[in-house]
Amino acid sequence: MKRRDAMRSLAFGALGAGATAFSAIAPTRAIANVATGAAPVRIRDVKTILTAPDGIRLVIVKVETTEPGLYGLGCATFTQRALVVHTAIEKYLKPFLIGRNVDEIEDIWQSSYVSSYWRNGPVLFNAMSGVDIALWDIKGKRANMPLYNLLGGKVRKGADLYFHARGPNIDACVESGRQAVGRGYRFIRLQIDPAVTPTPLNDASVYGGPTNPVNLWDPADYMTTMLELFDRTRSALGPKVELLHDIHERISLPQAINFCKALEQYSPYFIEDPVPPEENDHFRLLRQQTTVPIAMGELFNTQHEYVPLIKDRLIDFIRIHISQIGGLSPARKVQALSEYFGVKTAWHGPGDASPVAHAAQLALELASYNFGIHEGHVFRPNTQEVFPGCPTVSDGYMFAQEKPGLGMDLDEKLAAKFPFPDGPPNFEYFWGTTRLRDGTVIRP
Ligand SMILES: [Mg+2]
Repeated sequence: MKRRDAMRSLAFGALGAGATAFSAIAPTRAIANVATGAAPVRIRDVKTILTAPDGIRLVIVKVETTEPGLYGLGCATFTQRALVVHTAIEKYLKPFLIGRNVDEIEDIWQSSYVSSYWRNGPVLFNAMSGVDIALWDIKGKRANMPLYNLLGGKVRKGADLYFHARGPNIDACVESGRQAVGRGYRFIRLQIDPAVTPTPLNDASVYGGPTNPVNLWDPADYMTTMLELFDRTRSALGPKVELLHDIHERISLPQAINFCKALEQYSPYFIEDPVPPEENDHFRLLRQQTTVPIAMGELFNTQHEYVPLIKDRLIDFIRIHISQIGGLSPARKVQALSEYFGVKTAWHGPGDASPVAHAAQLALELASYNFGIHEGHVFRPNTQEVFPGCPTVSDGYMFAQEKPGLGMDLDEKLAAKFPFPDGPPNFEYFWGTTRLRDGTVIRP
């Protein structure tokens, strides 16, 4: 027998002529198990923890394993409809996943994705995110590595944060930004949404319908105010501070084009959500008209919404809420795709992204070449006590805990002391009640 035939015979063994080289070496799982010398670690329980330590409803998933003391935490926070996510996890995902091998993160995601036949959407994806991030936390703990190391290792020391400059008027907002720069921030988000007739937030008694609008908002007032705010802030803070703003999709395409062109003179770092996701095709027209960098994506419900904007280079920053797209597994795919099209990451991260979500996206940011900016959120004292080991914030950066996995924990007893507010409405009224002068409700 010639040497090449002898090698082929050795490789295929008794599998016969129909066997392929792949099938001859297929039993890798058995070899891996022999290599580790241990039975797979499996999901023993999936808990949903509802807590509002600083008034924001957070949904946290705790995946417990068959290995004593080994568990992971994930964020499933869809704060506006938190209780339906709770049901999706407890009644549907948990029974589906008990007993699964914790190593198989990708398969658990893919099989969960099709497990209800109807897929996508904020409820199911947030539920899946809770499990997905928890499994990555577990994998990091088992590897005895911070999660950023599993994702490729650090390419930077920390994640630059942007600060939310806030205030009831332009003077207050400029002063808020000035103080933040004094504390080390280099990126400032400017935001005033002038309501013509301000309505107390979350007050159902003042709700008005289309023929009786009470919470009015006017595009011309808004754009005029924002242009003055940019002008005043640029004058006060100088040319080196990066300025950001979120339009919140509240204006038309022609208005967005003119507004962005007017903002060009202030060199914004990015302008976010210029038009709603229902009008994604408009980004092509906007792109042709303005040089302002554009951020988009937090309201996307499927992968199919962000891919065209990335591949056609119609945006500069992908702005996705990590739990809203199903967790760290899909987020790292978006990040990798974006790198090849010059799109940077700016994961959505206000207070309703829990500390667990911030830690997960921070791990990805530390290992991503195309990281852009991390939405700044300073964890308040109650939240820090409920989540010991939150990422730290210093000099305008967010830093990871140098501990295995996400590097943080959850004090369940303390979390229970901060329950969701009792009874209905269990959500805010200010989304869906703001209207134009003629009574038309605006998005969002
Ligand atoms: Mg936004």
